[in-house]
Amino acid sequence: MSVPFSFEVFPPRKDMPVDVIYNTLDQLSDLEPEFISVTCGAGGSSANAGARMLEVASAIKNKYNRRSVAHLPCINLSRDEVADMLIELDRADIHDILALRGDRVPNVEPKEDFPHAADLIRFIRQQTERKFKVYAACYPEVHTEAPDFDTDLKHLKEKVDAGVDGLITQLFFDNNSFYYFRDRARAIGIDVPIEAGIMPVTKKQQVERMVNICGATLPIKFRRILDKYGDNDDALREAGIVYALNQIVDLLANGVEGIHLYVMNNVYVARRISETVKYLL
Ligand code: FAD
Repeated sequence: MSVPFSFEVFPPRKDMPVDVIYNTLDQLSDLEPEFISVTCGAGGSSANAGARMLEVASAIKNKYNRRSVAHLPCINLSRDEVADMLIELDRADIHDILALRGDRVPNVEPKEDFPHAADLIRFIRQQTERKFKVYAACYPEVHTEAPDFDTDLKHLKEKVDAGVDGLITQLFFDNNSFYYFRDRARAIGIDVPIEAGIMPVTKKQQVERMVNICGATLPIKFRRILDKYGDNDDALREAGIVYALNQIVDLLANGVEGIHLYVMNNVYVARRISETVKYLL
């Protein structure tokens, strides 16, 4: 059976018309990913993020006829707001959710209904039973707020037990961290599929930002690439594609159950990687 290969996109900024993303979606859907997921307020932005996410996720499903996964961060939502969103998603024929706690929004006091993603997952299951396929996030290199690996893994097990169908990892650049995490997860009975989140790096600032946000470790060979090509956009983009492909080949050879590509709305990069990956799945 073929391994799922999916993309993640983000909606246009709120001051841009939503249809600026249609050209991107058009080309991404031609690459026939298993699904396209849509971020919602990632990085802690905007009050109206849910509506934007829904618009884009709905276009993926209803305009481009692809499976669409809606990211649903809960930290700033009440139960009623989540219940309304579930109705909207069902109406738009979207039945795949990535259930998240969400990034904290600066100067916004979180609501109290869903302190953790597990609370959201329990709520989705209570309200809608198995109507939605529910994914959740996991962190091979440990979530930045967790005190240690074992505590984070224990919380992940609770989250999975709340009713998760599959996990998608935070991006990582060293496959060994993924293999260690996967072995430890399996050892404590986390048995749902774990899809590996891979981000092809195209800009030096992008790496610096990602390392700050999610604490990804940069292996020495990756640092050398940044040192050599960091000031040359074309060279770094090509090196980033090759690096991501090497990661993917190794993951597939080691039995990964899915590859989720953080394409950052970059069609060129998605196409280049898809052209090779389609022979490997
Ligand atoms: P949780 O599973 O709730 O975990 C958060 C922290 O709480 C962890 O440290 C965990 O160990 C701890 N914890 C969990 N349960 C308990 C408990 N019972 N008691 C004490 N501590 C506990 N963010 C967005 O805002 N929008 C997006 O679209 C988005 N997309 C993402 C996609 C992917 C694939 C990934 C990996 C992340 C994404 N994020 C997004 C980021 C995510 O929201 C943040 O990493 C957030 O800080 C944690 O979300 P979570 O769902 O993993 O939280």
